[in-house]
Amino acid sequence: MNETIMITKKKIKKQLTEEELRRWTDWQWQIAHTIKDIDTVEAILDITLSDEKKKHLQETLSKFPMAITPYYLSLVDRESYENDPVFKQAFPDTRELEIADWEMEDPLNEDHDSPVPGITHRYPDRVLFLVSNVCAMYCRHCTRKRKVGDIDFIPSKDVIQKGLDYIRNTPTVRDVLLSGGDPFMLPDDYLDWIIGEVNAIPHVEVIRIGTRTPVVLPFRITESLTNILKKYDNIWINTHFNHPREITSSAKIALRKLVMAGVPLGNQSVLLSGVNDCTRIMRKLVHKLVANRVRPYYLYQCDLSEGLEHFRTSVGKGIEIMESLRGHTSGFAIPTYVIDAPGGGGKIPVMPSYVISWGSNKVILRNYEGVITTYRMPSNYSEYLCRNGCEKCDLNLNIKEGEPEFSPSGVSKLLGDFEDDIYLKPENLERDERNAK
Ligand SMILES: *Cc1c(COP(=O)(O)O)cnc(C)c1O
Ligand code: SF4
Repeated sequence: MNETIMITKKKIKKQLTEEELRRWTDWQWQIAHTIKDIDTVEAILDITLSDEKKKHLQETLSKFPMAITPYYLSLVDRESYENDPVFKQAFPDTRELEIADWEMEDPLNEDHDSPVPGITHRYPDRVLFLVSNVCAMYCRHCTRKRKVGDIDFIPSKDVIQKGLDYIRNTPTVRDVLLSGGDPFMLPDDYLDWIIGEVNAIPHVEVIRIGTRTPVVLPFRITESLTNILKKYDNIWINTHFNHPREITSSAKIALRKLVMAGVPLGNQSVLLSGVNDCTRIMRKLVHKLVANRVRPYYLYQCDLSEGLEHFRTSVGKGIEIMESLRGHTSGFAIPTYVIDAPGGGGKIPVMPSYVISWGSNKVILRNYEGVITTYRMPSNYSEYLCRNGCEKCDLNLNIKEGEPEFSPSGVSKLLGDFEDDIYLKPENLERDERNAK
């Protein structure tokens, strides 16, 4: 019997020898023994799939490869694997080959908003920097399936250099998100080099790292890695727990090590049909996260990437979950539910409506219990008419000499007193074309 099968089976039965346990908790061993074929999954879980089913699954794998760490597979409940949230995130489903008309390879238009390969610059002050294209486990629901695991997208040192140059030459960028793939799949010294280079850019204030290793390969959080993270005082990490079952004792140790290295932790979940589309599961998840000092950051509506239709829920389900959290539990345990706008508009927050009505003096609001209340606005609120200029204003702006001033854009600009814009208008309005004749 091959080693992966043997050790994983023994791990599930909790009968590892000391030597086997040492190997099990070695992340390199986990990577070297990553499960990439269906037969091994069958052998480990003691299940038998029909030949017909295996043939279809094989087709799925030829389009979207599979990779599961022995650790993550060991979390599957073999008794009811078909309904298992870990299994569903890791094991292919033939429905991945069904591509609906409205699904897209790159729904967020990340390639279009890319000034140089590897960089997506969508928001004014921050960029997404893809520094790795491999992950410890290939999530079946991954938005970037088109890139992850694709040999053609491995960012070379040259590509990374060009990305760094772009950030160096773009002084408005104050926040850099290292993502991929999974940045923690890079060797320590290479990761240290990238972080060091980004950190040395004077206008970069914050570095964020998106990693799923605490979920699928918690042993990756080694002392040598945390020693690198400790060298910097501006790193934030976002991880990706989707189900309370994923917060195991090993995951907790990994999270603890990161917190002890001084890194603030956040979590981005994806709302997935059949995995976590349940108010009770979400409540449990956010509670376990904050108990381990991880702040729920975003709950994503599943993107319109190809082959993800079976994972997508209605938006109503997401709003229902948000309704079940706000007021019912600690405010800091509540993520922001967002839809990443198809076409590249960025993340748009979605939530229940709490403002019921509005008059000139009062706002009518409702709370989580259904209590309807009124808020009386001040009758003598003196607006700071910004047209007078910041020099004459008695609010304390306190910006440094020579520091470029923030200039509003978008809807925020419409609200500004010192701006002349009074509307935002789509290009090519039919009436404009008509009137131009
Ligand atoms: C999500 C994302 C960001 C970061 O957005 P925040 O709301 O600041 O977390 C930046 N760039 C791109 C392209 C993104 O998709
Ligand atoms: S870890 Fe992230 S990038 Fe990697 S496969 Fe999962 S969702 Fe995709």
